[in-house]
Amino acid sequence: MVVQLDQQLLDILACPSEDHAPLVVGTPGDPDADFLTCTSCHRAFPVRDGIPVLLLDEAVELSAAGTPAGTPGPSGTSGPAPAVDPTPRSQPRPGSGTPGEGSSAG
Ligand SMILES: [Zn+2]
Repeated sequence: MVVQLDQQLLDILACPSEDHAPLVVGTPGDPDADFLTCTSCHRAFPVRDGIPVLLLDEAVELSAAGTPAGTPGPSGTSGPAPAVDPTPRSQPRPGSGTPGEGSSAG
């Protein structure tokens, strides 16, 4: 479920931490998550019934992967599949070699 918040509301919302940084919808790992992520301290605040819970006690510190740890995800997240590179392989070369007789008696 995508968080539906007015842009004006997002403008006035700020991180309750001391950085007071603006918030963005979703998390770096899941833009559709019901979270508001601080752009400074990267805390994720849950959005319950369309109401952002901007409490440090409720905040979830995102891991390096950008996903909140310890919280059950609302929906399965599927990342982009890595591209498969065709492995270059050497083509079989035709056998080069001319059988010849180099000995001649003259
Ligand atoms: Zn913050």
